[in-house]
Amino acid sequence: MSPPHFLVIPYPILGHMNPLLQFSQVLAKHGCKITFLITEFNQNRMKNAIENLGTQINFVALPDGLDPEDDRSDQPKVILSLRNTLPSKLHNLIQNINASDGDDSKITCLVISKNMGWALEFGHNLGIKGALMWPASATSLASFESIPTLIHDRIIDPETGLPTRKQEIQLLPNSPMMDTANLPWCSLGKNFFLHMVEDTQSLKFGEWWLCNTTCELEPGALNRWPRFLPIGPLIQSDTTKSSFWREDTTCVDWLDQHPPQSVVYVSFGSLAIVEPNQFKELALGLELLNKPFLWVVRPSTDSNNENNAYPDGFVGSKGKIVEWAPQKKILNHPAIACFVTHCGWNSIIEGLCGGIPFLCWPFFSDQFINRSYICDVWRVGVGLDKDENGVISKGEIRKKVEQVVGNEDMKARSLKLKELTLDNSAEGGQSSKNLQKFINWAKD
Ligand code: UDP
Repeated sequence: MSPPHFLVIPYPILGHMNPLLQFSQVLAKHGCKITFLITEFNQNRMKNAIENLGTQINFVALPDGLDPEDDRSDQPKVILSLRNTLPSKLHNLIQNINASDGDDSKITCLVISKNMGWALEFGHNLGIKGALMWPASATSLASFESIPTLIHDRIIDPETGLPTRKQEIQLLPNSPMMDTANLPWCSLGKNFFLHMVEDTQSLKFGEWWLCNTTCELEPGALNRWPRFLPIGPLIQSDTTKSSFWREDTTCVDWLDQHPPQSVVYVSFGSLAIVEPNQFKELALGLELLNKPFLWVVRPSTDSNNENNAYPDGFVGSKGKIVEWAPQKKILNHPAIACFVTHCGWNSIIEGLCGGIPFLCWPFFSDQFINRSYICDVWRVGVGLDKDENGVISKGEIRKKVEQVVGNEDMKARSLKLKELTLDNSAEGGQSSKNLQKFINWAKD
């Protein structure tokens, strides 16, 4: 039987493209054929990185329907444009691929990410199987799936998704209690909520909802619906070939010169923006530590660089600052003592696989639920609290770093959870079996 041919369609931001790329690499390792769709805009921006990603995957590009100067951080605009532009182009693309190399090459299955639910419906109408690869936690996916129930129980408003009153709920059995104001759509506005209601409906055209997670991490969410399939942790043997952005590898040489568990790693992923006041306070907090730090400061998007202005008194001689780090490598480096994170799901899975304790600094979306898992359920980290002015102070940063780094029980739990998590992807592990089940289904 010929191997399945997957057409992988991520929503074109890094937090979706990276996990779908890693998943594609795992599928390719199992002999599957992969065509990976990117937008022409990203193809131009990430040209060098794509060339470095190897030949296992065939990249194809289509326009996103926006003008070159359009603001692609405006998510509702991007979502709408893709939806209007891509279907007809995708139709031609699939026809061309199917016509080009005979039966062995026909697209057998679509794999999409969040915001691209329409593509599953589109594939379904063409008789092509489909699956969702969710780029965040199973719990956050379950929360979107629960929207009709939350509306029915009058917990949220049907028009805005906002809580009808202040309360804590337990969304799923075995999941942490959560403030309804921290439901993942509440920080992203009404239009995003309405889009996700629609997107989640289309996701039902996907036979499987694959998640980069494990049964032990989120049993409540995974036991609830049979279509949830944990296949995590997605790990790549060659981490240099798993990112679309250019990484500054000088920080690995720098880490090599530090003793075990001595460096504080600070990174807030690809989207979160630290306000200028908070940025200064963070810089001063790192300066106060009696430990070296490795800090990822992405180039500022504002033209006068106000966001990234370092305060008076910041020397930074104990630290190393880079614009983008090879994070998976960093989190597996023995010199790392703890990870100050925005609690993005990919970062969390990577931190768990490194056995590193966390300091949680959530910004928006599912990051608040993720913090609860880290601090209250798995107990492998602590949260950073804001002061009365809404700022995480330098004193708080120093205090919590010391608290985490000095906590031997927490370190032991982190190492234990690392082992449990990694076992899933090893031969005979649950995620590894689930992956095989998925590939067999795609072959049928
Ligand atoms: N990342 C990286 N280098 C950095 C910072 C982040 O490679 O300097 C990667 C990180 O390994 C993760 C992704 O960017 O895979 C961030 O995803 P996450 O879900 O944590 O957050 P998002 O960017 O979607 O908010």
